[in-house]
This record gives sequence, C-alpha cells and structure tokens, in this order.
Amino acid sequence: MTEIEPILLNDFKRQWNEIEPKVLEATRRVGRSGWLVLGKEVENFEKALADSWGIGHAVGCANGMDAIEIALRASNPEPGFQVLTTPLSAFATTLAILRAGGHPIFVDTDEGGQIDLDLVEEALGKNPKIRHFVPVHLFGHAIDLQRLKTLSEKYDLFMVEDCAQSIGADSNGQRVGTIGKAAATSFYPTKNLGCMGDGGALLTSSDSIANTARSIRDYGQTTKYSHSIIGMNSRLDELQAAILNDALLPLLDSSTERRRAIAKRFIRELNHPEVLVAPFPKGSNSVWHLFPVLLPNGERRQKLRNHLDAKKVGNGIHYPGLITSQPALTEGAFTKIGEMSVASRFVERELSLPIHPYLTENEVTRIIAAVNQWK
Ligand SMILES: *Cc1c(COP(=O)(O)O)cnc(C)c1O
Repeated sequence: MTEIEPILLNDFKRQWNEIEPKVLEATRRVGRSGWLVLGKEVENFEKALADSWGIGHAVGCANGMDAIEIALRASNPEPGFQVLTTPLSAFATTLAILRAGGHPIFVDTDEGGQIDLDLVEEALGKNPKIRHFVPVHLFGHAIDLQRLKTLSEKYDLFMVEDCAQSIGADSNGQRVGTIGKAAATSFYPTKNLGCMGDGGALLTSSDSIANTARSIRDYGQTTKYSHSIIGMNSRLDELQAAILNDALLPLLDSSTERRRAIAKRFIRELNHPEVLVAPFPKGSNSVWHLFPVLLPNGERRQKLRNHLDAKKVGNGIHYPGLITSQPALTEGAFTKIGEMSVASRFVERELSLPIHPYLTENEVTRIIAAVNQWK
C-alpha cells in the first residue's frame, strides 16, 4: 500500500527543488565577492524590491519586526508615545511598538479579523494624543487604503503599515504599504516572499525616513564610527539579499497568481455548511498569505482539525489567542479600548487551510474534499 503524502502548510523542500541552481549560483557569487553584510547585493535587492513594489525606497533589515521598530523610531517619538494597533496579529507587531518605546492601544477587529476602522476613527477622535498607527494587512488581504489615507490625513498620523503578510496586495488598485509614512515587510521563510533565514525590509517614499532607517539599522552610524543616533544592529546579509534577488523575488508574481487561483477554487468549491470563508475587506485584491475559514465554535474547530489531521491535510490556527492576553504584556504596558469581543470570537473559530504555491491541483482537490466530506 502506498502511504498518502501529507499536505503541508508550507513546503520548503519543493521550493528548494525549484530554486537550488539559482541559490547556489548566488551563494558562489557572494562568497567570491569577499563582502558579506550590507553591500552591493543588498543595494541591488533593495532597488529591485522598491521597483517591484512601486515605492521610492526599500531598506533591508534583519527581520520584519525590526523594520516596524525602525520605522516608528524614524519618527523620533517621545518615550511612551501612544500607538493604535490591532490585538489580532503576530505578536511581533506589538513587540516592535514596545521595543520602539511606544505604548500600544488596542481596538477590536471586524468579523474578518482585520482592525475595525470605525473603532480606530472613534479612538482617534477621542484621544488627540494618539499620533501613531500600525495597521496590519492580515492574512494577505488589503484593508481599505482609501479609508486609511483619509484617517491618516485627518488625524495627522505617523502610520506604519505592517505588510509582513501582504506583499503585492492592493485595495482598489492601490498597493498596500504606499499610504503610510512607512511600511514593513518580512522575509521569514513562511511569508509570501520568504528568504532562507530571517530578513525584512522597510518601505517608504520619503528620502529622509529612508536615510534615517539606513542609519538606525547600522548602529545609528551616519559615517563610519560616527554614531549620531541610538541605533540597532538590524542589517541584512549579502547572502540573503542575493538569494532573494536571484531566486525568490523573480518568482513572487507567479506564486501570488498561484495562491489566488487556489483561493478561487476554495471559495467556489468549499460547500460544508459549518465552514465559512472568513470575510475579507471590500476592494481587497488579496495575496492569500493564509486561507482562514470560520467554524461555528471552538469545539467544532477541534473536530475538523482532527479530521484533517487524519486525512493528512495540514492546518493551522492564526492565532490561538489575542495579543492582549499574552502573559508578557503586563497591566499598564498597554491600553485596551473595549472588550475585544469580535476578535475573541474570531480566534475561537478560525482555522487556516494550506494555500502555498507548490500545492498541486490534486492536492487542492484533496483539501476541498476533506473539508466537504467532514461529518
Ligand atoms: C511575520 C510577521 C511579522 C514579523 O516579521 P519577522 O520577520 O518574523 O520579524 C510582523 N507582523 C506580521 C503580521 C507578521 O506576520
């Protein structure tokens, strides 16, 4: 009997089969160059990323979390500055705010798990001290960018868009990351543009923010051994930049198209009455980092998980709890506006199906059948 092959949430071995020759060539080039950190490769990759994003500058960083922190620090904020953000994201979003010296303020999400922009507006109207905002384009969806633009102008915000999950997404034709003062993305391997380790980038159309960010990521140096601001060590390796540039960035558009095609099939063919596609923002041309569905409750979700495990269909939960419930966040370190009841319901019910670009049509069929046949 042949064993049924497990369907993974991410399949890095299949990716390696596709990229191996280019990665080896890039590695050889970097090795021969004799230059390993922040050099020509990083510069070339930054240029290629900024061009493909359609934005003035990309600044390579050690990871996506640092890119958010660096963007916030580039605004030269007062210690304890208040930052509006979402309770439903990778913990890194909030951690970056805290590391930058900020005080996170959380508002509830909408039914699809994205920050509720009505509540954002209400909070901004009531508290004029909030001048920073870190919205997250979660799951690969684009939240309403026209609305973000209006809010950010009306309340004169320093907005940093967290695009770690949404590289390439747009809202009615407007790219994510192009509305805020800056944006951040991540090259963590599971992300839509993952590298072979850790990496990230800050995106901005502002020359001065780009310059400040380049200084902060490299010990706050303006010239060699002259430190004009308190910086960090958040440099991108030549190796990661070369691999991204040669092997991974060129695949981004086609892998995004593949994710979209799989999402289309899921939306059309999933028909189990207890499994709903999580709602997503109107106007979002999503890049489907994840494919979240909603179950009636946590118990039914666990039952479906058990069933999918038995069918060897990978599945995940994004996220098992809200950021506001993390033990690391002590009372007083943050403010919660309201009870986060919509977000709480969401995290109890959410389940993510595999949607990586190396899934075959047969595997997509297997995933759909496994869900639809669940009793
Ligand atoms: C992954 C992720 C980050 C952090 O990126 P790292 O490269 O892991 O530091 C931040 N925000 C969101 C929404 C993410 O998914």
